[in-house]
Formats: sequence, structure tokens, C-alpha cells
Amino acid sequence: MLEKVLIANRGEIALRILRACREAGIKTVAAHSTADRNLMHVRLADESVCIGPPSSQESYLNIPRIISAMEVTGADAVHPGYGFLSENANFAEQVERSGFIFIGPRPDTIRSMGDKVSAIDVMRKAGVPTVPGSDGPVTEDSDRTLTIARKIGYPIMIKAAAGGGGRGMRVVHDESTLLSSIQITQKEAGSFFGSDVVYMEKFLDNPRHVEIQVIGDGEGNAICLGDRDCSMQRRHQKVVEEAPAPGIPADVRAGIVKSCIKACEDLKYRGAGTLEFLFQDGRFYFIEMNTRVQVEHPVTERVTGIDIVKEQLRIASGLGLSVKQEQVNLNGHAIECRICAEDPVTFIPSPGKVNLYHSPGGIGIRVDSHLYSGYTVPPYYDSLIAKLISFGPDRDAAIRRMANALDEMIVDGIKTNIPLQAEIMRDPGFRQGCTNIHYLEGMLKKKHGATGGSH
Ligand code: ADP
Repeated sequence: MLEKVLIANRGEIALRILRACREAGIKTVAAHSTADRNLMHVRLADESVCIGPPSSQESYLNIPRIISAMEVTGADAVHPGYGFLSENANFAEQVERSGFIFIGPRPDTIRSMGDKVSAIDVMRKAGVPTVPGSDGPVTEDSDRTLTIARKIGYPIMIKAAAGGGGRGMRVVHDESTLLSSIQITQKEAGSFFGSDVVYMEKFLDNPRHVEIQVIGDGEGNAICLGDRDCSMQRRHQKVVEEAPAPGIPADVRAGIVKSCIKACEDLKYRGAGTLEFLFQDGRFYFIEMNTRVQVEHPVTERVTGIDIVKEQLRIASGLGLSVKQEQVNLNGHAIECRICAEDPVTFIPSPGKVNLYHSPGGIGIRVDSHLYSGYTVPPYYDSLIAKLISFGPDRDAAIRRMANALDEMIVDGIKTNIPLQAEIMRDPGFRQGCTNIHYLEGMLKKKHGATGGSH
């Protein structure tokens, strides 16, 4: 096993990684910014190192400082969590070149999956179904672009190859605005992601977002831990996730699982990863792969009983997977609500001091959060402050437990989206299940008017 892991992240995921390390008997180093001295995992870690000022650019995204912190503390590996440097191939490469272990896929895998155009290409060649699209980047040849677009059929989505976080996407309804929209998206992509490469995809009108969790040992063996439905989204960002995805016919599920495992085995994929799909009219369409642990991994852990972060640690230690595919059994239903420090109606972030924090509990409830009474949520980072996960023998039971847990939870002093999550749990459409990716924004519009959810 690894001996000492440096955690290059913050908040709930840093604490999640720390817990897994402790269970595995691995020492921990918390690398944190000056704004995060009081984070719970910094208190609990064996060692902590300040890596810079609050700005992420100068701390959590600062590669030389993180590598120096590993050198100074004698850590043998780094866990990047999600966000920040987790999908930065250059970081992974520099970590490995400096003689340390990167807990995640090989740098070349991160690079090819980080570019959505090449990811789609790899997956299509491996037999994974993809969205009809431009099969490559949009070129300067406008006639060719218009011809490809006609073949795909409108509406079309223009997407940044390096896009992420729900940004760098634009829908075009007819030919008259295609070229100008491509230009705008290229410009935006250039300034957000440092690459102006865009591609075209058929815009699916009422898909669900269903994703497949995989883990590979890096030697050509891979297992699948089932699927998750993350269709409850606002501005292409997930709000509620669940496992398993409801209403997927068994044969369709078996088919997609088989092709995902094959793709990961072909890639000799190393570590945890997620293949994201749109699911419409009974069919899966690959959109991208995330080469890291995801925010919503706990719902999969709950229905499979497998600790995904510990598997990551095992694989990085060279110990391989702890289970075979035949040993992966799904049981019950799990739901996750993302709890964010934000106004539940306007979605404006609400950092500040948490005067009182009371965590819900009871059978079937898991809370992943770094909050405690007296903690101040800094304004510099993502607003996620807790993940509430409920489990039940079936979906209905999990929803009822979640509703109770949301009622019990107290985060006093700042605004949170707990009231919105409670509304979602009571919503008849959500309760019925199988809602599409536009459902939540429609629900917000109905409840709060046009100025509510969509602005
Ligand atoms: P990101 O990397 O920014 O998360 P994704 O490619 O994963 O971007 O897409 C994010 C979300 O955008 C999807 O979950 C879905 O809601 C929507 N989306 C992406 N591609 C399409 C498409 N071709 N048609 C309709 N919606 C799409």
C-alpha cells in the first residue's frame, strides 16, 4: 500500500479522501490555501502544508507548489479529487516525472479523454454508441461545415472540445445562425478553456443523463459498478443524482455495460472513471468521459457496497481491483442531493459563517460534508458544502428518507439550497422518475416564474 498521500483538494472531497486513507492505514498530507486553514480535513490530517493564497490559480491549481509540498513532506502519491487539477494531464505527467504516483489514469489517457473530440473518436472505435455529429472538429471550411450540419440535422449543439462544467455549449436551431454561433462558441472556448476547438453534435430534445461508473487496473482489466441518473440539472450542472438509473430495460443496460467495459479494457484504463451518456428513446449516446472520482460517486458506493476511493488507492498501490465483475451486486436505491451555499431561488452564492450546523442521520443516511458549527464558507471556491445521500430498498423509500433528512438538516447563518432540494423530493414528476435533463428548469420556471431558475 501507499504510505503517504498528499490531498490536493479541499472541502468535502478532501475529507472523503482522508477517511479512505485512514481506513487503509495511509498517512495524509493536507495541501491547502491560506483561506482553508480551518477546513476539517486540515485538522484531521497527519500533516498540512499551506500552498498559497486563496486564489485557486495560486494554490490548488499551482503545480510547482503542489509538487514541492510532496517533496517537502515525503508523500509518495497525490490524490487530486475532482475539479482543480484532477483532469490535468500536464499535472499528472509532472507528478510522475518527479518520481511520485498520480492517483488516477495515465497522463495520455487523461489527455485523450480531456479532448471531447478525441474521446468520442476513441469510444466510437471501441464500439460505444455516440451522438450523431461532426466526427471531428469544425474546420475553417464553411461549406463543409454547413454540409455536415445538414447531414446531422437541426437543432445542433456546438460544443467546445475542451469544455467542462456545463460551459462552452450552444444550441443552433437553423442554418442561418450556425456559422455565427460557431464563431461565438470558438471565442468563448478560447478564453475559458485555452482552446478554441469546437465540434457539432445532434441536439437531443428530451434526453436523460445516465452515466456508467468504471474502474480499471491499468493492466487491461476493468469492472463496471452500474449506472447513475443525473438528469436533474440546472444550467447543465447536476443537482440530484441517483443509482441505479430508473426505467432502463435490462438488455439495454447489459449492452451498454459490456461496451463500456470493453472500451476501458482496450484503453488499459487505470483508476476510477465515468462514461457519460445521454439516454433517449431507449438508446444510449456517449458524450464524454470523466477520468476521476465524481461528486456523485457515493450513490454507487451505497448500492454496490464498494468503496470507490479505496479502489483508487489500491490501484495506485499496484494491488489491482478488489473485486471481479461477478462479485458486483446491486442492491436497493440511493439518491444524492448536492447541498450548496446559495440562495434557493436566485442561486446567488451565499458564503459566510455557519453559526449552527446540525447533520441529519438515521438508517439509510450518509452525509459527506466538511461543515461544522462556527466554520466560515469562503467566497473563493465552488459552493458545494455537503452531499446528502439516502438509501432505501427501493426508490420511493430513498426519496422519503431524503425528504426527512432535508427537514432535519440545519445550516444556520448562510443561505442554502435545502428548500429547493425539499421541493424536488416532493415534486410529483421527480417522484415518478425518468425525468429528462430539462425537467428541473421547467419546474423552477413554473414555481418561481421566469426570473427564478433560469437566471
Ligand atoms: P460538461 O463537460 O460541461 O459537463 P457534457 O458534454 O457532459 O459537458 O454535457 C453536459 C450536459 O449538457 C449534459 O448532461 C446534457 O444535459 C447537456 N448536453 C450535452 N450534449 C448534449 C446534446 N447533444 N443534446 C442535448 N443536450 C446535451
